Amino acid sequence: MDGFSAAELFAKGESVTYGDFIILPGYIDFGADEVDLTVNVTRELKLRTPILSSPMDTVTEEKMAIYLALHGGLGVVHYNNTISEQEEIVRKVKRYKNGFISDPVTLPVTAAIRDIKRIKRTHGFSGIPITEDGSSHGKLAGIVTNRDVDFEDNDNLPLTKVMTPLERLVTVNEGVSLEDANEIIRKHKLGKLPVVRKDGTLVALVCRTDLIKARAYPLATKDAQKNLCACAAVSTHPSDRERLGALVNAGIDVVVIDAAQGYTSFQEEFIREIKSNPAWKHLQVIAGNVVTSEQALGLIDAGADSLRIGMGPGSICTTQETMAVGRGQGTAVYSVAKAARSRGIPVIADGGISSVGHLTKALGLGASAVMMGSMFAGTTEAPGEYFYKDGVRVKKYRGMASLEALQAGGSKRYLSEAAKVRVPQGVSGTVVDRGSLEDLVPYLIMGLKQGLQDIGTRSIADLHKAMYDGAVRFERRTMSAQAEGAVHDLFSYTKQ
Ligand code: 5GP
Repeated sequence: MDGFSAAELFAKGESVTYGDFIILPGYIDFGADEVDLTVNVTRELKLRTPILSSPMDTVTEEKMAIYLALHGGLGVVHYNNTISEQEEIVRKVKRYKNGFISDPVTLPVTAAIRDIKRIKRTHGFSGIPITEDGSSHGKLAGIVTNRDVDFEDNDNLPLTKVMTPLERLVTVNEGVSLEDANEIIRKHKLGKLPVVRKDGTLVALVCRTDLIKARAYPLATKDAQKNLCACAAVSTHPSDRERLGALVNAGIDVVVIDAAQGYTSFQEEFIREIKSNPAWKHLQVIAGNVVTSEQALGLIDAGADSLRIGMGPGSICTTQETMAVGRGQGTAVYSVAKAARSRGIPVIADGGISSVGHLTKALGLGASAVMMGSMFAGTTEAPGEYFYKDGVRVKKYRGMASLEALQAGGSKRYLSEAAKVRVPQGVSGTVVDRGSLEDLVPYLIMGLKQGLQDIGTRSIADLHKAMYDGAVRFERRTMSAQAEGAVHDLFSYTKQ
């Protein structure tokens, strides 16, 4: 057979990265659409899309977590915030109902035309519910739409003079199904349909425009109650026991214990504590980060349900430079995945993924899923606003151990919080606009399916089996092979 088995590829004991090797093609007798990406990301949780987003403050808050879960992946909510802020993000994920806006923009009964105009300028829409106290879940008083204000040039006119008052509004009761709500919108030719509680408070809003562009999410990651699964990160610090308690109350299904070097007595103790606490032991625990078999088996023995692999491969990361410790991500994934497989525990390749081909390589080395930061930081669903830098539309992206994030309280993953002299292990920068997850995730899924098809395997389980059997063949790439494999010899080109 041409090439080498994965065992032979890594036998030399080098730190190999994704760029250093290539996978040889196999035999295809099936379509890419037939490739099944369903996988266990933890001992018990299945994902239909083997993709997670990093717990970083420029990557994962509610929008990222909601849209990744809708597409079959999982977003890990960061913890560089207060307990109540993180808890509220998790609640928004758990409460999310496709088609329902659970936190609509609202105005108080005291507001005037100028306030509607301001909202239209900043949010680009109108059709604003008016509540007694102005909060999203206050007592509903009426609704103001475009038509009510279009020809009104007295900015001071109170909205109560132009709104459709509650008595003339069509509303539905809490608990209504999306199909029934949509039927009412159609029948009454409504633009907006408020969902209200028995006591008259606003619960959510259903919009005609959303109905028109409504899409189904057959891959969505859901719990037994059909709510989206939520996952959040905590550190091993003693104070984060309180944080975990709050997150459990908010409904998390999975917890990530976040540490740059996860093989510590602190992490082992925390895992054991979670697994022996009746209120917490239903949680799936993703432990890490690890890069060696010894670290992996230690955390699995403590009770981990999944492991995150990676020390230093991240795009924003300077750990290997500053600490002289870490491992090439290819070698780390292969070694840890193999060790964890002996105990039936899946692993997640975290960091260093800069193209869809890297996803296929990570899974090809035994990972069950990948976690990405930079890939998602430039999407509309990531926190933060776009801005222009040298004429390019970008968003901010920073390492959680960059000086900037450390100063904002993000050092808990680095055991260095109390240190007087800070040694940053990451940088702060920008990433280009990548559009919406609604386009990016289907692209990643299709790229991955086509990668598996080229290898000749129909599922991730098949891929892993074939890799361990030596049927998937690998080769090292010389520097010139790497140059040849990238775009070359063009005067100019665009990469889309
Ligand atoms: P990316 O997908 O951008 O290559 O890597 C994201 C991963 O980098 C995160 O999931 C996390 O494991 C890691 N990470 C996040 N912030 C930092 C940092 O400041 N320093 C280091 N060493 N790693 C980081």
